[in-house]
Amino acid sequence: MKAVVFYSSYHIKYEDVPTPDITDNDILVKVTICGLCGTDIYKIQQESVQPGSVLGHEVVGLIEEKGKNIHNFNVGERVFVSHHVPCFSCKFCKKGTFSLCSLFQKTNIEPGGFAEFIKVPKELVRNNVISLPDSLSDEEAVLIEPFACAWRNIKRIQIDPEDIITIIGAGPSGIMHLMLLKTIGAENIRLVDIVDSRLEFALQLGAKDVLNIKKVKAHKLKGSDVVIVSAGSKEAVQYALDIVRVGGKVSVFAQTPDDTQISFDPNMIYRETVILGTYSSTPIEQKEIFDMLSSGKIKDASSIISHRLPLKDFKKGLKVATEANNSCKIAFYP
Ligand SMILES: [Zn+2]
Ligand SMILES: [Zn+2]
Repeated sequence: MKAVVFYSSYHIKYEDVPTPDITDNDILVKVTICGLCGTDIYKIQQESVQPGSVLGHEVVGLIEEKGKNIHNFNVGERVFVSHHVPCFSCKFCKKGTFSLCSLFQKTNIEPGGFAEFIKVPKELVRNNVISLPDSLSDEEAVLIEPFACAWRNIKRIQIDPEDIITIIGAGPSGIMHLMLLKTIGAENIRLVDIVDSRLEFALQLGAKDVLNIKKVKAHKLKGSDVVIVSAGSKEAVQYALDIVRVGGKVSVFAQTPDDTQISFDPNMIYRETVILGTYSSTPIEQKEIFDMLSSGKIKDASSIISHRLPLKDFKKGLKVATEANNSCKIAFYP
């Protein structure tokens, strides 16, 4: 089968790899669509995965083959698949920090979503495969995982719909936060970016205000109750700390490059400002997002897919996403 194999940040190849073998307890899925995540870009740029790896974890596909012990799914069924599962019983899981669970970090689809086929190993079959109704399109379903990550972040921040919320970064995750915040009745949402077209899109989706940080000084934004950082840069985190109100909340949602250091006045924390973050999502939020998408609570979700490309054009899609101009979510079709 074909897959996109990572060797280094500048050496990524669309090439033949072995189709994974499954055991009696696994499922083989033929990938129909796989979304490009900010963390995929991070791993490529930072070279933080092993050469020979296949990335991609936002997957929708069709069950091609199943082990003989699989009774709750059928060959040909259209499914959403996610890649990590917590044990639900360790110290981390009991405290709700599921993504720190060792099973969560060990489990994965094989070889990765940027491939024609993936093996869904037995640990993932029970909680991480959702059968899709006809009412949910592939392009909506492929957004379950990234929406679930933003949703987990929103739940963790405990947002009051009355809050003045600033989202730094109007890329896919900033836009998904905006869409989800609208579903809980938040209205005072402003987005900050350096690309006008991205900000224009945020306005169309109901942001109250948008600001191009290249044109407007950060101090104009001061007084936010909640600041969500969905751009992976030191400057973005620094802005967030500058504009949050005393006793407000800063959520670091995007991963910053290795060795990023920030300096801030610890009295901010003494005066009850909260700095928090989230990493990834669990089957719990994925099921919640599945319900929200199926019931139409999240409107026009697939409008965030700006580029649809065949998987062989992976490098083209990666370039578009990295340039962050007129793009939002990039989707690949094997
Ligand atoms: Zn992701
Ligand atoms: Zn656990």
